[in-house]
Amino acid sequence: MDLYEYQARQLFKAHGVPVLGGEVASTAQQAREIAQELFANGSQLVVVKAQVKTGGRGKAGGVKLARSAQEAFERAQEILGMDIKGHTVHKVLISDGADIEQEFYFSVLLDRAQRAYLAMCSREGGMDIETLAKERPEALAKVAVDPLVGIDAAKAAEIVAAAGFEPGKVADDVAGVILKLWEVFTGEDATLVEVNPLVLTPQGTVLALDGKVSLDDNARMRHRDHEQFVDTVDADPLETRAKAAGLNYVRLTGEVGVLGNGAGLVMSTLDVVAGAGERHGGMRPANFLDLGGGSSAQVMATGLEVVASDPQVRAILVNVFGGITSCVSVAEGIVAAVSSLGESFTKPIVVRLDGNQAEAGRAILAEANLPQVTIAETMDGAADRVTAIAQELGEN
Ligand code: GDP
Ligand code: MN
Repeated sequence: MDLYEYQARQLFKAHGVPVLGGEVASTAQQAREIAQELFANGSQLVVVKAQVKTGGRGKAGGVKLARSAQEAFERAQEILGMDIKGHTVHKVLISDGADIEQEFYFSVLLDRAQRAYLAMCSREGGMDIETLAKERPEALAKVAVDPLVGIDAAKAAEIVAAAGFEPGKVADDVAGVILKLWEVFTGEDATLVEVNPLVLTPQGTVLALDGKVSLDDNARMRHRDHEQFVDTVDADPLETRAKAAGLNYVRLTGEVGVLGNGAGLVMSTLDVVAGAGERHGGMRPANFLDLGGGSSAQVMATGLEVVASDPQVRAILVNVFGGITSCVSVAEGIVAAVSSLGESFTKPIVVRLDGNQAEAGRAILAEANLPQVTIAETMDGAADRVTAIAQELGEN
């Protein structure tokens, strides 16, 4: 999970990385109030910063300075709603501003290929780091970090020396900040921590002015507090609803809704549907949905409802291989689901049941005689049928 800058700053602050104060606003009026408070507390300058998960905000006009609360209000008005590389700005960070003497760069990331971490540091921060790496690679130090040792004081000193800092107070202060950033990296289970720019102020203080953090989702269970960082603004509403119901759902772009049990079966179902679709007007799967092991009537009802409420879905394929769950309960689930969803539920469903008690399951479906349900014997047959139905519905 990638964090917004204001979230990265929260983590920086918690680990003692020097950052300036500020708060996030979603309206220009809020921005004015936050700025008023910052000026009242002695700020000379505030910065209004677009909060989007992409770099180059400065160049795109998403980072502006303000010398009064009224100016902060106006800059926020300009930046809110702006589009930066396909990301709409919903929030701005109103931060205390720094005077900048020099801009540096530091990052540490997981280097999968080397099975280690990689630290990068430069005395020439601020600009686009990709450009620097390409045009003047010697100005960007790259130092491998042994995962068993990490960044200790000696390593931090090595990194700043490699970046060309002269021995002295600034080098020591930068090394000190690097140690704190390493604490963020390990303490929060991040795969990337990047600060560009890390600045030196005329007063001689080193500050993290920007922050980019990616957290390792595999470590989410160790960080209850990371739940607060999950973004709901940009998320697909159907995916959000499916997730709340405990379903593993990913929205795709086709016309055929797919439900199955087990990730492997559902993935191969997507392939088979796409293959059959080539014979039927290029119909494609509209989603991935794994019902999981239980596949109770309730889960089936929620799954069908989520898949069917996607307006692009014309027809649905339910592909279940009964293992621990018998096809009898799956069939009962489908009948109960279709009845509970009521008359509004009209999208055709092709059902293929195989495995544990498949025949008994099919008999239950046949008996229920639901108008929208078709039973198929094989996976290929089911895919052929459902894509043909979807194509036909598109032509009507
Ligand atoms: P990015 O363009 O998305 O990386 O956003 P940054 O947060 O790095 O800001 C872009 C640029 O705006 C920085 O490189 C600085 O030159 C400038 N900037 C950001 N914050 C401040 C600040 O507090 N004071 C001043 N003077 N400039 C700032
Ligand atoms: Mn930056």
